[in-house]
Amino acid sequence: MTQCECKYPGYCKRHKMLKSPHLWELCRTREDYFQAWEGGHGPGQRTKEGKAPVVITVPCSQDEIERRRTICLGCDCWMNDRCELIELGCRPAFYKILADAEQQCPEGKW
Ligand code: SF4
Repeated sequence: MTQCECKYPGYCKRHKMLKSPHLWELCRTREDYFQAWEGGHGPGQRTKEGKAPVVITVPCSQDEIERRRTICLGCDCWMNDRCELIELGCRPAFYKILADAEQQCPEGKW
């Protein structure tokens, strides 16, 4: 185990980026990945074009992300690891929504 401080996937204040469940697992368990993020050059910290990663201006707390995630997991709209009502191409993008305090569930559930 590494010095990863996050209890759940989502916005990581330490590395200033969103971590999908897979990236979060790598951060928790792989020292090489953890050190890459510590050095500012881990996956997701820079795009191939060298652009800065997307920054969430109003990040949710880890507790709030988990609260939202729990609601989604019990919702009829949750299919194939994402919300059917939100037009997003991948699960990491959906976690961006969960981690942004300014976003809302389209059904008003959070
Ligand atoms: S409708 Fe709301 S609670 Fe249901 S999966 Fe979508 S975002 Fe989550």
